[in-house]
Amino acid sequence: MNSAPPLDKDHITALLEKAHSTYATNTTGANADYIPYLAKVPSQLFGIAVAFPDGSVLETGDTDYEFAIESISKVFNLALAIEQVGPEQLRQKVGADATGLPFNSVMALALHDEKPLSPLVNAGAMSTVSLIKAKDAEDRWQQVLDIQSRFAGRSISLSEEVNQSEQTTNFHNRGIAWILYSANSLYCDPMEACDVYTRGCSTLVTARDLALMGATLANGGVHPLTKEQVVSPQNVPRILSEMVMEGLYTASGDWLYSVGLPGKSGVGGGILAVAPGKLAISVFSPPLDKAGNSVRGQLVAEYICRELGLSIFSP
Ligand code: GLN
Repeated sequence: MNSAPPLDKDHITALLEKAHSTYATNTTGANADYIPYLAKVPSQLFGIAVAFPDGSVLETGDTDYEFAIESISKVFNLALAIEQVGPEQLRQKVGADATGLPFNSVMALALHDEKPLSPLVNAGAMSTVSLIKAKDAEDRWQQVLDIQSRFAGRSISLSEEVNQSEQTTNFHNRGIAWILYSANSLYCDPMEACDVYTRGCSTLVTARDLALMGATLANGGVHPLTKEQVVSPQNVPRILSEMVMEGLYTASGDWLYSVGLPGKSGVGGGILAVAPGKLAISVFSPPLDKAGNSVRGQLVAEYICRELGLSIFSP
């Protein structure tokens, strides 16, 4: 069998450009429209970035466009909570399993003893946010914003417009928060958990930011540029394993089969794939499939990972 080609940066740049030109013509999928802001983002925007543990970033397309991080924020909430309460508490109170259900499912709660199962679905993410040790709502929010900034290596900001769009339409998530609370699976005021979780989804990142956030995970928790140890090395494999199980919701198995890396998507059109020790790939392209994952994002990740032999299951 052929061994994987070395990670040559010129070769990777050529792959990014090839991926961009090939998949730019794919117009399947549609922007998320249940959050009004997301429906208005130009669908043709398309950026791909790859970041390495040495801090270099290769990019093509719209990698400077700031888009809503959405569910990718769940990964960083998890990193914060796991550092504060430890992996065992996190597993006991939130879980470490696939739900096999859509990201906003309430069935997951009803079927599984009212533990949300995964920190990467809406229920589990609110439960995770509620585990963060905070003196009040503002402190909880500042910690959520701060962990995103530390993973990105720059100051990340809330978009008032995205937040307003989400907060005025997030009735379903508020319902989930109350169900969790009634089942003793939320550890702060339910509307505080929902509010802070929603704000965390409403920050703006670029594809370049996202690649560096992923490269921090690929690099044992150390940011490649700031050199800060953002999350302890022993918690990185736990975060990545949660991403393997639930990062792309009901398509997590398909993603693992075709890409073979821990991943995370957001309904803003971002997707992140992490190759431990090697690199992180991020794609921004708003049109989503039915599971809520960027169509082009999945195609690009599959192509690059196949060409570079990056699957964690490859010899
Ligand atoms: N803010 C969105 C929500 O809670 C995030 C969902 C997602 O990106 N999958 O529904």
